[in-house]
Amino acid sequence: MATTTDTDLTAADVAWDLEPLVDGKSEAGVDEMLDEADRVAASVAERRGTVAELDASGLASAMRELASIAELVGRAASYASLRFAADTTDPERGALLQHVEERATAINTMVLFFDLEWAAVPDDRATELLADDQLTFCRHYLAAARRYRPHLLTEPEELVMTEKAVTGRSAWSRLFSELTSTIAVDLDGGSVSLEGALSRLSSPDRTERRTAAEAVTDALEPGLRTRAFVFNTLLADKAVDDRLRKYPDWLASMNLDNEASDESVRALVAAVQARYDIPQRWYALKAGVLGLDRLADYDRMASVADEESEFGWREARELVLDAYGSFSSELEGAAHRFFDEAWIDAPVRPGKRPGAFCAYTVPSQHPYLLLNWTGRRRDVLTLAHELGHGLHAYLARDQGIFQQSTPLTLAETASVFGETVTFGRLLEATSDPSARLALVAESIEGQIATVFRQTAMNRFEDRVHTERREVGELSVDRFGELWHETQTEMLGDTVELTDGYRTWWSYIPHFIGTPGYVYAYAYGQLLALSVYRTYEERGADFVPQYLELLRSGGSRTPDELGRIVGVDLGDPGFWDGGLAIVEQQLEVAEAAAVEAGRVPN
Ligand SMILES: [Zn+2]
Repeated sequence: MATTTDTDLTAADVAWDLEPLVDGKSEAGVDEMLDEADRVAASVAERRGTVAELDASGLASAMRELASIAELVGRAASYASLRFAADTTDPERGALLQHVEERATAINTMVLFFDLEWAAVPDDRATELLADDQLTFCRHYLAAARRYRPHLLTEPEELVMTEKAVTGRSAWSRLFSELTSTIAVDLDGGSVSLEGALSRLSSPDRTERRTAAEAVTDALEPGLRTRAFVFNTLLADKAVDDRLRKYPDWLASMNLDNEASDESVRALVAAVQARYDIPQRWYALKAGVLGLDRLADYDRMASVADEESEFGWREARELVLDAYGSFSSELEGAAHRFFDEAWIDAPVRPGKRPGAFCAYTVPSQHPYLLLNWTGRRRDVLTLAHELGHGLHAYLARDQGIFQQSTPLTLAETASVFGETVTFGRLLEATSDPSARLALVAESIEGQIATVFRQTAMNRFEDRVHTERREVGELSVDRFGELWHETQTEMLGDTVELTDGYRTWWSYIPHFIGTPGYVYAYAYGQLLALSVYRTYEERGADFVPQYLELLRSGGSRTPDELGRIVGVDLGDPGFWDGGLAIVEQQLEVAEAAAVEAGRVPN
């Protein structure tokens, strides 16, 4: 680290080159591509009313035209949105993005009929067509587009549902957002946003944390009955929708959205619930590290880190390349391209979008990564994570535009995998016990937030949806009881839940806007860890199958993709593998805490 320069710490010269997306023609290239997409869309539009009569080769050629539209629009839109992400304060970039979005909408509207007519093709005919090899490049896409068919109502009924949703579900959901976004928390003699107050919970000062938590509880009190009413209304609305659409239970429609089988979701939830001892052991250790007998709810986010080493960009690059290389030379080779060919934009700049992401762009091009590199250990793991997304996209490019991306539930397969390998390397390279504790604490708390907390929230949703259907409206107190019970299941007696905490369900937007969604975070994360566990168990044999899984992109359902690496997502034993990895990290943390003298031996 002695050779680390300032430029290396800030990664100031690591910028992406977006020109290949528009053949080096800058903004002019955007409209050229959209003009071409417009022409192809006009030709597809001539097929209106004939989709049901297409044979396999006719359907294949129509799908190739649609693919070329999606490629052209995708390239133009990627260029505009990535340029905008690099400087969101530049009005010209904003205007270009708006221009592309408007033209893209107009183009997509011209070909919208195609999806509708395809969805209306009778089942036997669709099955017969999809068996044809000419449709391999879009088979899963076309099949998945029809998955809601058994739950569709008649056309006039669908029309009424759609129109009335604007003043029904959507309006209630917007009211909830408006109510929660104006919640103001009285702190330090002034008023701060809910988010600002919640961020104080990571303070190292217990009094500050408790004060912030009490202020949040006070701020949640006004309007609580109104928010409970909105929640009740939306619970009832979903019950009606599910009954009319013949979904067997409250979660089935979300599973269908995610292409996740009901069995795999049940297996996930059962496996995580059976390991609630993991968060409990962590919070018991954390209490010791913080010098407390027992944590209270407001202590859970408290930082235990007291050390932060700096990383140079080059050092991070070598570490991450080495981590991917330890797994597969093919992945390492592909990873090199991201660094060598300007596919990454790393430094923090004024106006740049915060956070980090990987943009798949389109299969004929290549992915891009946006980072905000600040030279911290966390940034090394973020680099490894986003690079994993990039490698997944890169390897799946031969699937073409319709099947390159995975469903949400498999989207983290490569990113969490790469992050886990890199984490292992970082841990090996960190000998100081306090630094090891800080490193592993951050990882465990991330796993608890993603895997355990989201599962406990899924259990809360399960209870409230079921009770609304079987008993009727829930009172504010009843919501609080169910929240308290489902949190206590996860935390045991290792965390004291204050009375005030009983109302903290009442600001969480997912329960209102996307019922059932929260488990997807746990699913994606734990699936990736469990696949990693399979690698640990099987070693080199596993590598070719794993690369095959990545190359398959979204060309199959998650259950089928799992079978490529020989795992059964419907088996709770599979999910136990990922939980074992979290348990290993916990053991490292326990040992490091003793070694660092932070807890008694
Ligand atoms: Zn990710």
